[in-house]
Amino acid sequence: MEQTFIAVKPDGVQRGLCGEIIKRFETRGYQLVAAKFVQSSEEHMKSHYADLKDMPFYSGLCKYMSSGPVFAMVWEGQGIVKLARMMLGETNPADSKPGSIRGDLCVNIGRNIIHGSDTLENAKREIGLWFKPEEMVTYTSCAKAFLYE
Ligand code: GDP
Ligand code: MG
Repeated sequence: MEQTFIAVKPDGVQRGLCGEIIKRFETRGYQLVAAKFVQSSEEHMKSHYADLKDMPFYSGLCKYMSSGPVFAMVWEGQGIVKLARMMLGETNPADSKPGSIRGDLCVNIGRNIIHGSDTLENAKREIGLWFKPEEMVTYTSCAKAFLYE
């Protein structure tokens, strides 16, 4: 079973969208493994977005992401890394289809309300950056037998 890292960004938190975003992952049939509501440091966000360090928006992005609380989560399910990215939509909300989280709930690329890992390798790296092993909760959902054959 795959795990991915999802975070409601400061704009999503301030706009009251945590519940809506959690609902979409829950109702899809994914399982919540870890969650924390935190205001992270700029240094932490620089590590999180290290692969974008040469982009012109990197500094503003890291400042913004540490400017207020984020709701950080680990979700688990079959093929979740790729499927969560489909649920998110495109990086630019203007290119995101209605029905996707960004396509339904935001308009601007610099305020696109949610982060989701783009590859399995990055998911592992990001989960390790945000959560300690003891913060990951292992349990068997009663719905599992009805979600998977
Ligand atoms: P994501 O994986 O879809 O979140 O996109 P990226 O990893 O490419 O970029 C990380 C985040 O940087 C995005 O979610 C945006 O918030 C922001 N970002 C990406 N491209 C741009 C841009 O061209 N301008 C601005 N202002 N922000 C951007
Ligand atoms: Mg990315």
